Amino acid sequence: MTRGLALLGHNISYTLSPLIHNTACRYAGAEYVYLPVDISPGKLSNALDALRLLGFAGGNVTIPHKIEIMKFIDSISETARRIGAVNTFTIADGSLTGHNTDADGFFYGYEGELSELHGEPVLILGTGGAARAVLDALAIRTRPALLLIAGRSEGRIEALMNQANSYGIKEVEAVPWNKDGLYRAAIRAKGIIQTTPIGSSSYIGMSPVEVSFPFSENHIVIDLIYDPTETSFLSAARKRGSRASNGLPMLLNQAALAFTIWTGLSFPLTEVQNTVQQHIQQHMTMDL
Ligand code: NAP
Repeated sequence: MTRGLALLGHNISYTLSPLIHNTACRYAGAEYVYLPVDISPGKLSNALDALRLLGFAGGNVTIPHKIEIMKFIDSISETARRIGAVNTFTIADGSLTGHNTDADGFFYGYEGELSELHGEPVLILGTGGAARAVLDALAIRTRPALLLIAGRSEGRIEALMNQANSYGIKEVEAVPWNKDGLYRAAIRAKGIIQTTPIGSSSYIGMSPVEVSFPFSENHIVIDLIYDPTETSFLSAARKRGSRASNGLPMLLNQAALAFTIWTGLSFPLTEVQNTVQQHIQQHMTMDL
């Protein structure tokens, strides 16, 4: 019998996950159907009860439910516990298990780039859920020499700094969210990871940094946004010779890991990648 997988989020019309997972199911011969479900804040618990009742096998959670869901799960993977957020869940015999595939998805998506950041200074822009997953992957696998954390909320910066310290990373500095603070941090950094939604289809044409931001050919730049595929931030980095990547490698790799958790099957990466590329050429936002 075909079983359901749900993406629980709010304002998620931009998502590529249904295309990714339904394509993967078709090529892998997995009998599942993946559906996006818009759930308002405060309604997550009801939505999870409904999925249990309907016999869903699990799903993904995205903004704004990634942390909230922690209250309703019965068990949690080690990675999700460390990060403090869940992006993937399974339901078996009514019991809900939370996982987080964002950190490993980030690591496998940019393995080549991240290997060059070992022992180097890295600047993270943003302090939300994605930043926590990026920090986990960097701290556990890449081991940068210094982490520079830039955000507009002092409380959230402090939480990330504590997270970094808990992994034994001693060199961590807060960066003020202003032109001068970001400029100075970029000069010191080799890696720059952009984790805010600024520049995404909801903030089209905008950039988290000023035009004077000192991108150079020494920088490795990753923007987690994948719609548009080239943000103003990425295109400025590329123009100044930085090695720059968008969020698609992370998106595909976190999806591949989630797919295997639900189905026990290998993810048909090439076929999904080709389908997603075709879709992007035909339908997605162009940041002109
Ligand atoms: P989140 O938890 O809501 O965090 C967003 C972060 O961006 C927060 O630090 C927030 O600051 C900051 N921010 C938002 N608007 C801002 C503004 N106007 N000026 C300065 N800072 C601002 O969201 P998330 O889950 O981390 O996701 C962030 C982005 O990453 C989204 O675009 C998402 O699509 C993308 N993402 C991509 C992948 C992938 O696979 N490629 C995976 C996960 C996420 P405050 O805390 O001050 O609000």
